[in-house]
Amino acid sequence: MEKRRIAILGSTGSIGKQTLDVIREHRDLFEVELLTCNSSFTTLAAQAREFDANNVVICDDTKYKALFDALEGTDTKVFAGMNSVCGLVTSDRIDIVVASMVGFSGLAPTIAALKAGKVVALANKETLVAAGSIVMGLSRKHNAPILPVDSEHSAIFQCLLAAQGNKVSKIHLTASGGPFRTWEKDRIASATKDMALKHPNWNMGAKITIDSATMMNKGFEVIEARWLFDTPVDKIHVVVHPESVIHSMVEFEDGAVIAQMASPDMREPIQFAIGFPERLPIGNKKLDFAALGTLSFFEPDLDKFPALGLAFKAIGRGGNIPCALNAANESAVAAYLRDEIPFYGISDVAGECMERISFIAEPTLEDIFETNKLTRSTADWIIASMRKKS
Ligand code: MG
Repeated sequence: MEKRRIAILGSTGSIGKQTLDVIREHRDLFEVELLTCNSSFTTLAAQAREFDANNVVICDDTKYKALFDALEGTDTKVFAGMNSVCGLVTSDRIDIVVASMVGFSGLAPTIAALKAGKVVALANKETLVAAGSIVMGLSRKHNAPILPVDSEHSAIFQCLLAAQGNKVSKIHLTASGGPFRTWEKDRIASATKDMALKHPNWNMGAKITIDSATMMNKGFEVIEARWLFDTPVDKIHVVVHPESVIHSMVEFEDGAVIAQMASPDMREPIQFAIGFPERLPIGNKKLDFAALGTLSFFEPDLDKFPALGLAFKAIGRGGNIPCALNAANESAVAAYLRDEIPFYGISDVAGECMERISFIAEPTLEDIFETNKLTRSTADWIIASMRKKS
């Protein structure tokens, strides 16, 4: 393949670092044009030096000077602020944009990249949860393909290559079930963040690891799949598969099911997105089926994991409600990580916000930003009153 010039938004996070791990193994195939992060200037400077990045942006502008000084003597140009990310991402010198920022903050730069016709390797699922209809519309309008980085969606994308134009009758979205899969509900209720942060199979950032423990992550992935593959929600089934070997499956009308398998390692879906259609060796662990012995499957428990039910409800109602769910969840997860609310407080806050926010059936992008802002203040108010009661 021809050398690709790449931008990584959120390069100091888990996906960003693993993207650079893939690039490190394939320096002949990629050129790092742009790296951005929120505030980890030391890591960003080290990445820029190692990969000889042409531009870097630090969103937290109070860290600009520190980053600038850390890159003294290099050719890397240093910028600050979200507006710089949105501007630089449209550069003619970029072929592919890895959108791996955390949460709603990834929406604006992803939209800028799509409008500029870039190939977007999307790890930031909140973008599709909050504004799926708008984002997919822009992808079509500007001929800017979105390639999934999320492991389940990469799996579905890979399975769909076998479709040959045939209709899909079902998507089986697999879920590990997270660290609390086998716990009783009252034990989950008092789970501390240290317990929730211990994911059995995947090594990920803090926000998504908590989302995996509540299973909100799986709910968001249902919404993500609905948009990415233009599939009605009633054709998307969640199945708990604790080994995380099958990353998802697609069923066709003849009952044939195509599954994608690999050892759980995010570098696998990352390489498939940035190297597509080529497959790049990444030195990951290969599957040993005899050693695995068995693979198991269970129905998800919506009583123990109400967040998953909320996500189905949100996409069922549509409009700006999934955006509200995402915003409430971001506020609630942050509060849980500050030890301000209990584990089930996360789904309580999310559920209450979904009821309180005014419904907009066909939100514009401004409506989405407004819903995000309003829901966050509603969530913060609910969190504050929860703290008073406890
Ligand atoms: Mg996933």
